[in-house]
Amino acid sequence: MFPVVDPNLPIIDPKFYREAGIGAIMTNAYLLKRGRPGQPPKDIHDTLDFKGTVATDSGAYQILEYGHVGVKPAEIVAYQEKIDTDIGVILDFPTGFHSDARRAGWTVDETVRRADEALKRIKRKDVLWVGPVQGGVHIKEVARSAVEMGKRPFSIFALGSPTELMEAQRFDVLVDMIVAAKKGLPHSRPLHLFGAGHPSMFPFIVALGCDMFDSAAYALYARRGRYLTSDGTQELAEIEEFSCMCRICDRTTPGEMRRLDLPEKEQLLSKHNLLACFSELRRIREAIRRGHLWDLLEHRTYANPAFKKFLAKIVQHSPFLERFTPTVKPRGISHFGEASDDRPEMVRYHVRRARVPVERGKSVVLLPGRWRRPYHEDPRNLPIVSKLANRSNASICFYTVPFGPVPMELDETFPLAQTESFDTREPTMYEERARQVAAWVKRLSPKQVFLVSEGQYGGALRKELAGATRQLKVIRIQAEGSKPENTVSSIIQRLR
Ligand SMILES: [Zn+2]
Repeated sequence: MFPVVDPNLPIIDPKFYREAGIGAIMTNAYLLKRGRPGQPPKDIHDTLDFKGTVATDSGAYQILEYGHVGVKPAEIVAYQEKIDTDIGVILDFPTGFHSDARRAGWTVDETVRRADEALKRIKRKDVLWVGPVQGGVHIKEVARSAVEMGKRPFSIFALGSPTELMEAQRFDVLVDMIVAAKKGLPHSRPLHLFGAGHPSMFPFIVALGCDMFDSAAYALYARRGRYLTSDGTQELAEIEEFSCMCRICDRTTPGEMRRLDLPEKEQLLSKHNLLACFSELRRIREAIRRGHLWDLLEHRTYANPAFKKFLAKIVQHSPFLERFTPTVKPRGISHFGEASDDRPEMVRYHVRRARVPVERGKSVVLLPGRWRRPYHEDPRNLPIVSKLANRSNASICFYTVPFGPVPMELDETFPLAQTESFDTREPTMYEERARQVAAWVKRLSPKQVFLVSEGQYGGALRKELAGATRQLKVIRIQAEGSKPENTVSSIIQRLR
């Protein structure tokens, strides 16, 4: 994340970035140029007294604000080269929030035209040039822009996220925009999201495949006396204790901070806000390393109902996300109930299970998949499984809460054996799972079905199997009150 710095009015002393380990910042080349009329361009690192990576924006956002900027596209490319920027942006033409489809189309074409012109003018190949994707809220135009820009040799691509969209919490539109851009762009090059905003939404945009972003929210919120946390925003005026223990919050109390002069208060709040953003980034990276980013998304939906909508929209793109989700992760996943049903790993399981070759015409034994995993190692399943496993005429399947049917052959594959789940005990959930199990059983065209029935799930499954097909011969054995040894003997006696 690049903290956005006003080149003419920096609020934070650059020493703070060094101490906090912040290695990259972003500033605005257009505002820098405008703020220094007649002065020769000077190395941006010296101007900002910052030795790390400096990215410069071109002033396109100011076009949105004022309708035009007093600088030509070629001029701002040359200026960025002269100030020795590390990452530069061409002067694109932003679509904004209020454009209609025709206008959006025009901004896409104009940005492509400007991109081609800029690419001809670029002399410094050591600068990483950013190619912005336009189209605004018109998803078809975003897709078209991504494909067109993706053909051009930019090191980084970027998507503008209109501030209005964030403020109106139209995360659903943002999701579609990002996915449309990702689908059109080459995946080998990073995608930057302009103006990413609040740390609480970082996990969502990272999950959608945004590799980099910049944010001015830390300073904008500080100006209005707002204190950022991963779960939301607090008003400094209302805080009794800081929950954060960063170097700022540790040394002062909310009361002391409130009594400070405005510039000093704004600076301290900005610093905390920035550290809250970077702390969230650490949390995200650690979640990625553990394969738990989706868990973080689900967790975050409890911070704000708007995020529930955010995730619900992301879920609609689960089959796309599934393609880029690792097949195996260092740890298992968590299944928190209905909300987790559509996470990419679950989508994958349901798709791949359907591809597993099956032997038809055997007898199917359905056993309850309880909390103990792998399911066959459950002490109440093991005696049954060990006596049936070698019989060529029987096939074993567990009926489970997180996955529905789990054939014995898949019991030890990821993430089945590693998934932590929670039985909500909702009848509708059992019915839905029972339908999945019955569909699997039907696919096996079994000679007979032994249902080792347990609890409401077993009951729902019995109903579903009875309704599935008339020809299905279902033998029900009550698991409760029956010793596993007796259960298996009774199966073997009747096994054909
Ligand atoms: Zn803090």
